[in-house]
Amino acid sequence: MEKESVTQVIVDDTTLRDGEQTAGVVFSRSEKISIARLLDQAGVHEIECGIPAMGKEEQSAVRALVDLGLRARLITWNRAIVSDIRASIECGVSAVDISISVSDIMIEHKLRKSRDLVIEQLKTALGFAKEHGLYVSVGGEDASRAETGFLLDLLRVCRSLGADRFRFCDTLGILDPFAMHGKIALLRQSVPEVDLEVHTHNDLGMATANALAAIRAGARFVNTTVNGLGERAGNAALEEVVMALKVACGMETGIDTHRFLQLSRLVSKASRRPVPPWKAVVGKRVFAHESGIHADGVIKNPKNYEGFDPSEVGLRRYLVVGKHSGTSGIIERYQSLGITLAREEAERLLVGVRTLAERLKRPLSDSDLRMLYGEITDSLVAVA
Ligand code: MN
Repeated sequence: MEKESVTQVIVDDTTLRDGEQTAGVVFSRSEKISIARLLDQAGVHEIECGIPAMGKEEQSAVRALVDLGLRARLITWNRAIVSDIRASIECGVSAVDISISVSDIMIEHKLRKSRDLVIEQLKTALGFAKEHGLYVSVGGEDASRAETGFLLDLLRVCRSLGADRFRFCDTLGILDPFAMHGKIALLRQSVPEVDLEVHTHNDLGMATANALAAIRAGARFVNTTVNGLGERAGNAALEEVVMALKVACGMETGIDTHRFLQLSRLVSKASRRPVPPWKAVVGKRVFAHESGIHADGVIKNPKNYEGFDPSEVGLRRYLVVGKHSGTSGIIERYQSLGITLAREEAERLLVGVRTLAERLKRPLSDSDLRMLYGEITDSLVAVA
């Protein structure tokens, strides 16, 4: 059967669920509201917003998010247990993720059950959710280690009981993009009626790559978190997945990428997890250029050394003046300080710049640059 081509990817951001599950991270109620609002303003399609079964405090936070009346669909995380789903219904959400462990290792050593019992448990929970008119994503925990035949059995249960999609979780982040592509393509071909969602972790640095591989194999839904926050090494980062889909795959999500820096800073502050300056897409210095050849190339045309315009994600280009600088970079940087240099002046300054940067073991600040400029102009006055 010919499957429809993927035209739009639906992003389900789980910063408020998997992101908050990061060891040691807690969001306050008002932080959750700010994050949800900003995700919604950016046009993120779906927000996984909490685990009502955790108790009263979490339930009232989920209710507060429901009351915001966002455009984004709110979805909660639930075990495949009727009381969990009932707690979600009481919070006012209309969509649930029903999670169940699907690998033999987890079925035997975590649930201490059999595959048959897992199927029965899913049928009961899914049946209950659908009777109550909920939109349901069935979450296959540890799907990457599950036996394919069993995954297909689960997908058929999803199909017959009307689940809206199946979430394939690489819970431990152990797949590579080729294996992910193969697994998703096979599920897609075997049970094409059930939409697929992919949930990836970054334990081997491949969360984003695996998410893209799954999408290219036919998954229509993808889980992300801002800054890649999440259990252990984190999840696929929202900003990376969306920009990679756009730049590497030519696929649009309809999400406003200009808000990514703002989102990144908000979540970094709320989670108390600083973002490294070299973090892909939103790191403060990923558009910093220093080496003479790169800076000169970027000044001539940014496309020479930038895969996309930094303003697309809310960042700015930044010319670092340091040990590797050339004259073009120096002229450009002094221009931003209101000082127009002749080329000979820049060449003279270059010697001082390199010496000072080597001595300080860092790029030069605006005041370093003014000081150096002062020295050469003083020496010019002295010669005159
Ligand atoms: Mn996870």
